[in-house]
Amino acid sequence: MKAQPPASHFIDGEYVEDTNGAAFDSIYPATGEVIARLHAATPAIVEKAIAAAKRAQGEWAAMSPTARGRILKRAADIMRERNRELSELETLDTGKPIQETIVADPTSGADAFEFFGGVAAAALNGDYIPLGGDFAFTKRVPLGVCVGIGAWNYPQQIACWKGAPALISGNAMVFKPSENTPLGALKIAEILFEAGLPKGLYNVIQGDRTTGPLLVNHRDVAKVSLTGSVETGRKVAGAAASSLKHVTMELGGKSPLIVFDDADLESAIGGAMLGNFYSTGQVCSNGTRVFVQKGIKDRFLSRLKERTEKIIIGDPMAEETQLGPMVSRAQLDKVFAYIEKGKAEGATLLTGGGIPNDVSAEGTYIQPTVFADVTDGMTIAREEIFGPVMCVLDFDDEDEVIARANGTEFGLSAGVFTADLTRAHRVVDRLEAGTLWINTYNLAPVEVPFGGSKQSGFGRENSLAALNHYTELKSVYVAMGPVQSPY
Ligand code: NAD
Repeated sequence: MKAQPPASHFIDGEYVEDTNGAAFDSIYPATGEVIARLHAATPAIVEKAIAAAKRAQGEWAAMSPTARGRILKRAADIMRERNRELSELETLDTGKPIQETIVADPTSGADAFEFFGGVAAAALNGDYIPLGGDFAFTKRVPLGVCVGIGAWNYPQQIACWKGAPALISGNAMVFKPSENTPLGALKIAEILFEAGLPKGLYNVIQGDRTTGPLLVNHRDVAKVSLTGSVETGRKVAGAAASSLKHVTMELGGKSPLIVFDDADLESAIGGAMLGNFYSTGQVCSNGTRVFVQKGIKDRFLSRLKERTEKIIIGDPMAEETQLGPMVSRAQLDKVFAYIEKGKAEGATLLTGGGIPNDVSAEGTYIQPTVFADVTDGMTIAREEIFGPVMCVLDFDDEDEVIARANGTEFGLSAGVFTADLTRAHRVVDRLEAGTLWINTYNLAPVEVPFGGSKQSGFGRENSLAALNHYTELKSVYVAMGPVQSPY
């Protein structure tokens, strides 16, 4: 098999197998070929991983942040050296085109190791608080054993975005990738170990929705960071609450992207396409409700159709391919069901909606799809589709579009395209979302906090803000004179 790892899990610095766990296959979405066979973690594997993490964490936390950072930066260097190999693995795991994975996946993971490895030495400092003679100081301390649970759209990136801030802060991590994409995180664990990370600090175990709760409910786990759907987020946050664990929730969205009449048309269309078709539409922050002001609607739609129909669909390993298959048959079926719903509820299918020509019949391919004349109440405008399906809605004025953009339970992201600087700022001020863009879409550099509000979650990944979610403060009051006691 093309991508068979030495064993299913990576625990305490080595590959570990337990064939008592349920067997499952990893499938290359472009051909349907089985590329690896793995086993889900048994309770014994879960115990082993958490015990290894717990054992290793104390000594790691006692090292200086600079020494910890050096190891993370070395891991970043190895990832960059092996970018091609890691990108090919990510393509096999997800079906995303190599054209994307080579620039967006291992590299963004490496960015996280480099950023947190570099900045944390200063960012983990505490405060000195003068109290007029007496004083206090704060220490930023790690939480202990942190669990990361990943989605299948950015497996390597998610493994690093959670691992880097957790590790630099002095925590240990047990990471469970999505059962759809089990391979990338194992390589990240291997690389961290090779870079000098002491064993036991970054463990990867396999499994699905039945394995996750074993981690979330474990008494030795201090924190859970989930990237997944809102439905899973509710379950995981609920379970974590029962034992008062820290949580970060990176969940789904139905984000608005607003295009005003004065916007640069080609940029706005480019942003909308990136925000709907990149990674075959499987991006949480996608701007799937594209609100276009009526004055440019016709021009917008005709150029959008033209550009969308030129997208090169095909073999994800071919350098020219711009759109690969969806991650799984189940996800493909779900997206086709939404397309049928869109048609049935009266939206206009501008382009796409079917299976492309000249692709492997076993691959889970779908054409990039645009619906026009979508209205707020339609199912395709309300629910997260998580596929390459763009909904274009039209609007008259600013107040109206802001109210409609905010009229959703989600609040992950939002974008605005306009040439009017003051309007751009006015609009982002009023949009209810955690991550916003002006005149671009979906850029998520490691320096900038990333995360959602409302039902899209809480907590932030990336940037110094992420360190708040992997540490807690200890406050120490220091008396400089005798105790003044009334007794
Ligand atoms: P999912 O919710 O089905 O699964 C996510 C992960 O949670 C998987 O590893 C799964 O095995 C695990 N899981 C499921 N039930 C669990 C439970 N009860 N306890 C513990 N773990 C459990 O999501 P998915 O289909 O893998 O990914 C798609 C979703 O993820 C979309 O909604 C998307 O918007 C969201 N997402 C969000 C972000 C973000 O940063 N906000 C990024 C990527 C994806």
